Amino acid sequence: MFDKILIANRGEIALRVLRACKELGISTVAVHSTADADAMHVRLADESVCIGPPPSKDSYLNIPSLLAACEITGADAVHPGYGFLSENARFAEILAEHNLHFIGPKAEHIRLMGDKIEAKRTAKKLGIPVVPGSDGAVGPEDDAMAIGEAIGFPVLVKAAAGGGGRGMKVAHTADELLMALSTASNEAKSAFGDASVYLEKYLTKPRHIEIQVLGDGRGGAIHLGERDCSLQRRHQKVWEEGPSPVLSAAARAKIGATCAKAMQDMKYLGVGTIEFLYEDGEFYFIEMNTRIQVEHPVTESITDIDLVLEQIRIAAGGDLPATQDEITIIGHAIECRINAENPQTFRPSPGKITQFHPPGGLGVRIDSAVYQGYVIPPYYDSLVGKLIVHGKTRGECLMRLRRALDEMVVEGIETTLPLFRALVREPGIIDGDYHIHWLEQYLAGQAEKTKTS
Ligand code: ADP
Repeated sequence: MFDKILIANRGEIALRVLRACKELGISTVAVHSTADADAMHVRLADESVCIGPPPSKDSYLNIPSLLAACEITGADAVHPGYGFLSENARFAEILAEHNLHFIGPKAEHIRLMGDKIEAKRTAKKLGIPVVPGSDGAVGPEDDAMAIGEAIGFPVLVKAAAGGGGRGMKVAHTADELLMALSTASNEAKSAFGDASVYLEKYLTKPRHIEIQVLGDGRGGAIHLGERDCSLQRRHQKVWEEGPSPVLSAAARAKIGATCAKAMQDMKYLGVGTIEFLYEDGEFYFIEMNTRIQVEHPVTESITDIDLVLEQIRIAAGGDLPATQDEITIIGHAIECRINAENPQTFRPSPGKITQFHPPGGLGVRIDSAVYQGYVIPPYYDSLVGKLIVHGKTRGECLMRLRRALDEMVVEGIETTLPLFRALVREPGIIDGDYHIHWLEQYLAGQAEKTKTS
């Protein structure tokens, strides 16, 4: 096992990793920018190192500073959390070159899945169903129109290096496709430094369903069921739940087994998520994330497996925590990502939290790094915290979530709490009858109502 882990992240995920380390008896090193000197992860870690000024590129993404912090503190492993360097294959390699362990998958797998075109090819080869689309990148020399017509409009132009829901353009006609190709390619070039784009059939009312996997890197792998992340705004997840309200046990077992088999064949190491769109009973692979995800507590609640702790154990050469047969889905869990944003305009609302009262009680979990008096800096994401609620049934879970949301107090800044309080009372949500465009349609309807009233 590792002796000392450096956590190359901030906010709630840094705290989450710290908790797992403490339980395992591993010493922790927090790193922070000058803007985060008073952050909770810094206060709770055994040691801390300032790694640079506020902008992420100068601190949390600054590899030489992170290496120096490892050197100074004698850390033997690095946990990257999510975002920042978590899917940077080069970072994993550099750590290895310095005899440091990267708590994550093999660099070759991070690289493979980071290129969405290669990821789709690999998925197809491994027997995972994919969204119909172009065979690889579409360049100016290709007959995009013919490809578009063959796939059937509407089509989606996506960036090979895309992420965070950016770099996607829908085209309903051949003319729109020409425009979409050039804008998407230009945007991809400036945002990701790679102009490659590809085409996919645009599914009109799918759900986003993802499978959590865990591999030991030696050919052993299991799946831990799914999370339904269909409630999204600008392709960003807002509310995640598991199990999906629309998936049968048989459908779960089938897609889960396909994913676990693929991970066995790859000799995948650590935690990963295979993301699908799900429409008319069919799964379509969109991408794989080779890291712990924001919504991992949903799976932890319904499987009773500590994913971060297992991730650390497995990175140190440990075995899988259970066989596939030992995994059972217990009840239902929902996670709300509560952001420091105006609940109508979604404009970020950084600043000082003057009152903070997290909800509690049976089945209620808060993953957050904020406290009363904490100032949310304007430099990073606007996550205030994640509220995760568990119940024996979806009905009980919703009942508890309603109560927990009403109990929670965050003052001094604007948050998206009012949005969740409304969502948890919406018939479409209560019935579980929603798809990836539901939330945006709902928000547009609400905006219209405010205008006319
Ligand atoms: P990113 O890496 O930027 O998050 P993804 O490929 O994971 O991109 O897609 C993010 C979201 O975009 C999906 O959850 C879904 O809402 C939407 N999306 C992606 N591909 C399609 C598609 N072919 N048809 C319709 N929506 C899509």
